[in-house]
Amino acid sequence: MTYDTVVVGGGPAGLSAATLLARARRRVVLIDAGHPRNAPADHLHGFLSRDGASPQELHEEGIREVLRYGGELLQGNVTRVDGGFTVHLESGSVLDSRSVLVATGLRDELPDIPGAREHWSSGVLHCPYCHGYEVRDRPIAVIGGSNRPFTVHQASLIRQWSSDVIFFTNGIELTEDERIALDARSVGIVDVPVSRLLTQDGSVAGVELTDGSLVPRAVVFVGPTFVPNDALLIRIGCARLDSGWVATEPTGRTSVDGLWAAGNVSDSPAQLINSAAAGSRAAIDINHYLLALDIALAVRSR
Ligand SMILES: Cc1cc2nc3c(=O)[nH]c(=O)nc-3n(C[C@H](O)[C@H](O)[C@H](O)COP(=O)(O)OP(=O)(O)OC[C@H]3O[C@@H](n4cnc5c(N)ncnc54)[C@H](O)[C@@H]3O)c2cc1C
Repeated sequence: MTYDTVVVGGGPAGLSAATLLARARRRVVLIDAGHPRNAPADHLHGFLSRDGASPQELHEEGIREVLRYGGELLQGNVTRVDGGFTVHLESGSVLDSRSVLVATGLRDELPDIPGAREHWSSGVLHCPYCHGYEVRDRPIAVIGGSNRPFTVHQASLIRQWSSDVIFFTNGIELTEDERIALDARSVGIVDVPVSRLLTQDGSVAGVELTDGSLVPRAVVFVGPTFVPNDALLIRIGCARLDSGWVATEPTGRTSVDGLWAAGNVSDSPAQLINSAAAGSRAAIDINHYLLALDIALAVRSR
């Protein structure tokens, strides 16, 4: 049995694609390892009509929609996709498909600051559009040390949510213009490197510096390095941009015929709603691709 589409990854991109294809009466299976990027967060924001829901709720509702329309679901890890397509799972299962959508997301590599990993998504955040409103008016630290352009921009940006923001450069050498801009935004600047985050009663309470001084802070923003989970796409030979990220057309089409990518795997800034939209757009393009194959086959067999 050959699927019309195998969708790899059950975040918003993969779920919305699988639902659309199932509703288009395509034979679709969604394979998901079950670790969406925002899973550590208690609540999600910025997704129309789902404000404040838990990531788990969104995920479960998405799965229900796929199943409701006859889409299939497999829990597991895809280890390889071969041309044509043959999709290999860690379990040893092998599936054949006419097309594949890879929606495997990205992983956030946090700066190496003791305490950052433990408080990730509670007191340590990266996205003001996701969680800035919830920490408005609190004493905020922005800590450099990784992802320089993102973090320097973040320091000015986050000032929109609080009048008490300090940028801990933590190894980032600011230009004179950057210092002037941060000063004009009334963002404090501390150049002494950070040694660790301090906690009190399980919450972030401040930043300890290498000279032993302590700076009370309630919330810390960091700039993770965004690493795409794109091994499946790279292995099969998808063309890449100069940045190293897989190149896609606006519909998510890759350079490999019949293979699409959507969501954070090829677009790091994409929020939940953008990822869902990218999945939907890819699914429509996949359906049109399959239709062209169906027509060619029907014509040949007349
Ligand atoms: C802490 C945190 C909080 C966030 N909060 C918000 C928010 O409030 N609002 C917002 O808009 N955005 C938020 N985001 C961003 C949001 O998480 C992403 O925009 C979104 O998850 C991207 O969706 P996706 O479908 O591309 O990938 P993901 O949601 O990461 O889903 C990818 C799925 O693919 C699976 N997978 C990976 N590799 C394989 C494989 N080889 N085989 C099978 N399955 C695989 C993974 O297990 C995962 O289930 C947050 C991010 C973080 C880190």
